[in-house]
Amino acid sequence: MLSFEDTFASPALQPVMPGMKSAAAPVEPAAAARRVRAEDKRIINGTADVNQLVPFKYKWAWDKYLSGCANHWMPQEINMSRDIAQWKDPNALTEDERRIVKRNLGFFVTADSLAANNIVLGTYRHITAPECRQYLLRQAFEEAIHTHAYQYIVESLGLDEGEIFNAYHEVQSIRDKDDFLIPFIETLTDPEFKTGTPENDQKLLKSLIVFACIMEGLFFYVGFAQILALGRQNKMTGAAEQYQYILRDESMHCNFGIDLINTIKLENPHLWTPEFREEIRVLMQKGVELEYRYAEDTMPRGVLGLNASMFKEYLRFIANRRCQQIGLDELYPNASNPFPWMSEMIDLKKEKNFFETRVTEYQTGGALSWD
Ligand code: FE
Repeated sequence: MLSFEDTFASPALQPVMPGMKSAAAPVEPAAAARRVRAEDKRIINGTADVNQLVPFKYKWAWDKYLSGCANHWMPQEINMSRDIAQWKDPNALTEDERRIVKRNLGFFVTADSLAANNIVLGTYRHITAPECRQYLLRQAFEEAIHTHAYQYIVESLGLDEGEIFNAYHEVQSIRDKDDFLIPFIETLTDPEFKTGTPENDQKLLKSLIVFACIMEGLFFYVGFAQILALGRQNKMTGAAEQYQYILRDESMHCNFGIDLINTIKLENPHLWTPEFREEIRVLMQKGVELEYRYAEDTMPRGVLGLNASMFKEYLRFIANRRCQQIGLDELYPNASNPFPWMSEMIDLKKEKNFFETRVTEYQTGGALSWD
């Protein structure tokens, strides 16, 4: 039972402020030993106090947190009036272009909710480095902004909300991608799941790889390329601008995830067994197949200078890059990028300042009035 008398009766527990004389004994050596040392931090299974952000050990995570904040944007800042006029004009967009927009939103309106839930209810509690937790908090808010952006597009265009928000139940090519992901999310969000054994640490690592390299690093790319291709032809430019901001955020999420994965590998090399690597390669191939089927479903014919088979090559190119980023051999030797304009827009190596300017000045607290 707690007793305040007991607490204050113990001189070692009284705070001693600098410059303040204390009649009490000096701070116990044990208390000083509890201070966090950077070298004691671990990304998983760490025992250092997670409430103390500094001293930094994983500076890359803090830097990404700062970059994420510097890239802050909100969906309502983007003017959708031109998109609305085009959507209403029966001649402005073809049926195939409309299908792309609806299928795209059908996938993305729920994808970022899955991503947010995975972080908040799953990943966050298994990560014991406070710098990484700080980034994950920022990332979770960005996922909320993305869901907001998709909802804003659906509302602006006056689309059937029931149709779009239920697409992940009702459209097979979208359902299949989510069915592939959900077991990995369930591993991390299962209240009984705990890291600390090689088997469970591998499960965590596998879920992190599926999430960063396949979900955010591959499953988003057909959709992004399609909407950006529309924008390049001066169609749905408001939606395309939102997608550009989302893509910038997502490439940071993917890069953070890759740094996280590689640091866990460095700290726990016993997890990176040949069998485990093979499992990851198989998952990566499955991801390419599912995303390719989604490309075929969204583009039954060529549209906007794109067709499904170009995406086969594109997805192989991206999958090779993801493999290489986490230290696996390329899965598809010699795959090349059929969309050089995409890499101009998202230099895959570039993590920040993808746009030269910020959207607008932010109103922070400006709505307060003391009158
Ligand atoms: Fe994300």
